Amino acid sequence: MPEGHIAHFKVLEQTPHLVGVPVGVSSPNRRFETGAAALDSATVRSLQAHGKHLFYNFDARRVLHVHLGMNGSFAYQRGGSSGAASRSGRSRSGAWLRVSSPSLTFDLRSPKVCELVDDAARDRITAALGPDPILVDEAPGGLGAILEMALPVGAVIVDQSVIAGIGNVYRAEILYACAIHPDRQASTLSDDDLGNMWACAVRMLRAGVADGGRIRTVDRRRDLKVRDSRTCYVYGQRFCARCGGLIRRWMLAGQFAYACEACQPLAV
Ligand SMILES: [Zn+2]
Repeated sequence: MPEGHIAHFKVLEQTPHLVGVPVGVSSPNRRFETGAAALDSATVRSLQAHGKHLFYNFDARRVLHVHLGMNGSFAYQRGGSSGAASRSGRSRSGAWLRVSSPSLTFDLRSPKVCELVDDAARDRITAALGPDPILVDEAPGGLGAILEMALPVGAVIVDQSVIAGIGNVYRAEILYACAIHPDRQASTLSDDDLGNMWACAVRMLRAGVADGGRIRTVDRRRDLKVRDSRTCYVYGQRFCARCGGLIRRWMLAGQFAYACEACQPLAV
């Protein structure tokens, strides 16, 4: 599932092709037909991401808001609106959105959100989100509210109004790196735990952006005990790479949580 690093990587990837030029906008499956017609031939001023939300800021305060959700994806074709994508079978692909610039055409498929808003609505959406570790270096003071919450920390850190951008894979990996059990009550965490979690989120999500949208948390140079080909320490794993113990998997806040209960003890 796309997490916040994907939205930020898409900004880096698409900005050179879209900003400053009028773009062709259409909706092959017609589900975004009115919005596409309103944006067609408009100029993109900038792209921005906050958490898992992606915004294309057009001229005249028009904003295209995209959230990939569980299944959304982009498919790229190099070349503009008269290029291969519009002539090939992709034109019948059912994409919600097709955007074409002189150097890139992309199709957006199965997004959770694809809507036309204005800049005021964009600002309301971002204001309702928590701080984004890709955008903010130091742990924001407001994060201290987590220490008042009578909820499992594994439920708190995927709440996008608390921290924006962490999904299921990063939840598992951040908590493992910080030796915090996902079921531990957030109110039992210390200020140091919170600072470590934020620093870890900053490091991991930014690495995901730099790594082209992949999540590879295992660092073999630092952790010589990892002898298999895994890219994550606990997410999707059966055995802990450090202690050899079984990785437990259970439902938490609607998605599978993963933990090594030896390395991440519940009782502290
Ligand atoms: Zn372990």
